[in-house]
Amino acid sequence: PYTGPSAAEILSKRKEYLSPSMFYFYNKPLNIVDGRMQYLFDEKGRRYLDAFGGIATVCCGHCHPDVVDAIVDQTKRLQHSTILYLNRAIADFAEALANKLPGNLKVVFFTNSGTEANELAMMMARLYTGCHDIISLRNAYHGNAAGTMGATAQSNWKFNVIQSGVHHAINPDPYRGVFGSEGEKYAKDVQDLIQFGTSGNIAGFISEAIQASPSIFISSFQLFIIYGVGGIVELAPGYLPAAYSTIKKAGGLCIADEVQAGFARTGSHFWGFENHGVVPDIVTMAKGIGNGIPLGAVVTTPEIAEVLTRRSYFNTFGGNPVCTAAGLAVLKVIEKEKLQDNALVVGSYLKERLTALKDKYDLIGDVRGRGLMLGVELVTDHELKTPAKLETLHVMDQMKEIGVLVGKGGFYGNVFRITPPLCFSKEDADFLVDAMDYTMSKM
Ligand code: PMP
Repeated sequence: PYTGPSAAEILSKRKEYLSPSMFYFYNKPLNIVDGRMQYLFDEKGRRYLDAFGGIATVCCGHCHPDVVDAIVDQTKRLQHSTILYLNRAIADFAEALANKLPGNLKVVFFTNSGTEANELAMMMARLYTGCHDIISLRNAYHGNAAGTMGATAQSNWKFNVIQSGVHHAINPDPYRGVFGSEGEKYAKDVQDLIQFGTSGNIAGFISEAIQASPSIFISSFQLFIIYGVGGIVELAPGYLPAAYSTIKKAGGLCIADEVQAGFARTGSHFWGFENHGVVPDIVTMAKGIGNGIPLGAVVTTPEIAEVLTRRSYFNTFGGNPVCTAAGLAVLKVIEKEKLQDNALVVGSYLKERLTALKDKYDLIGDVRGRGLMLGVELVTDHELKTPAKLETLHVMDQMKEIGVLVGKGGFYGNVFRITPPLCFSKEDADFLVDAMDYTMSKM
């Protein structure tokens, strides 16, 4: 049994010693002390089905034994920076990762986070092209450092510091966007931005295949609500091929941010961009690739990778043996346990059941996403698509009481984000939908 400090004690320490910007889910935040595969356990040993851990980092399940063993074995052997000496862990994982990517995407740089990966990708695009302008999508989240904050396109996540050279294109959002599902019409805006906002040549374009992005949170200090972004927006079909072609014509590189949509999550494909039939010049990843261990990566072609030899470049802990041993173990587990197939089968089943729930409750305006990356948008009016913000909070809270944890996002904080570990089963999907159904039936 857990004998550590209570949730209240931890909260009071956080308030005294941690940044006031830190936030958490739920009015009464959970004190999570253990994790096993798709389950989390609080201080009283109460079990929760974790339908949101995937987004936070967990790809093959909390504390997956194979990944834990790889981490422990490597930790006992050596943990060090990989910049000075040779070590097999970084080379083995780089090879395995490169083999998962199409075309000539064969050179890997390791980082510690998604922000670092996107910072590096944007810098490489700028160096390679000799241009500064980058296009990203409105509603995007790509990180919170100097360059990536510029590419992030949501006022909530932007501080008033210089973020130069990024232009934000109209979001090809099939549910709320002006052109519905006609991807090519939205892509025209990319051409307009290049034509009217740049010299005609650009460094690149960065986007996710399915926008996920951070959610609505309650700050630990002020207890105010911070609205989120993303909300599982699948880019309208046809958008990425058209946008990529426009970018290439303007001399730019296409960067796919796979921090959330990558690593088998969409089920039908290993990478999110593959769902759109495009091949990027640079792919960035983080979160799930280490199953909870801090690890990010940028993968590109040998020709583009060459730009970093113009100066010295390193990252002390990027690609360290312990994290890369974990990354390799994650790839092996995905294959051994056929987690991509599972994401497809269970994800399709879950989406079907959620879509049936939409027919039952007017409160549900949209069900979307692929594989185990699903969104459920709540509205009080189907015509006006009025965001049902309070209802979302209420359902989320009640589902927690029943023992199911879902995430929340969307610009208005009215979208459930369902991104469980990829070991999620059909029974788990049933439990989740039944919990949502029961909660909505009582409203
Ligand atoms: N890209 C996407 C799509 C993300 O969702 C995030 C984090 N939510 C990042 C980049 C940044 O990753 P990190 O928090 O590891 O820096």
